[in-house]
Amino acid sequence: MRLEKIKHINGTLLVVSGLHIGAGRDVIEIGGMDQPIIKHPITRAPYVPGSSIKGKMRSLLEVYYFINNEKTREFVVQGKPCGCGERSCPACVIFGAANDKKDITIGPSRLMMRDAMLSKIDQERFEKGELPMEVKYENIIHRVKGVAEHPRPLERIPAGVTFDFNFSFKVFEGDEPGLLDYVYRGLRLIELDALGGCGSRGCGQVRFDNLACDGQKIDLTSVNLD
Ligand SMILES: [Zn+2]
Repeated sequence: MRLEKIKHINGTLLVVSGLHIGAGRDVIEIGGMDQPIIKHPITRAPYVPGSSIKGKMRSLLEVYYFINNEKTREFVVQGKPCGCGERSCPACVIFGAANDKKDITIGPSRLMMRDAMLSKIDQERFEKGELPMEVKYENIIHRVKGVAEHPRPLERIPAGVTFDFNFSFKVFEGDEPGLLDYVYRGLRLIELDALGGCGSRGCGQVRFDNLACDGQKIDLTSVNLD
């Protein structure tokens, strides 16, 4: 199979409401933050892992579009990503299939999502100590007393922060046209849903701005989700 092209897509990820991408349960920070966000291990700067964007995009696309494919549905109803590994499956072609029996003509995952790093302006603010992370307390309301109990601190990247994000998309000979359109739809679905944790409680609203593919402007708001 011949690699015909590698497209390059870049843009700005804007945090619209506090973003919480957890660092994992084994990370306990000094000061008792039990729900810290993921940060660069050396600079401590927050970033958005490419895997978080890619994973969210895949799960939304699978439940929104690819569930119509019988083989994909078998995995999705078990709560798993599609693992059919067939070349006719957009989920497996775009995002990759973890399956030993996969069709070898499927080739590598077409989408390579990179980690999104702080934009230049926010990186400078961070380095000057002018970009504090938000600590939001979440409580459980006692059903009889009606008072808030068990406050737990949740660390979030504050609204208004911007990240530079980019990804590449491989086009192989014989690929179905329109595969990349699913990626744009996936980004639009994330805008309509949320990124990271606690999305149902107001976290993780994001916007993908200034999107361009090989320098050509892409307007996500006009992406057709039908
Ligand atoms: Zn599949």
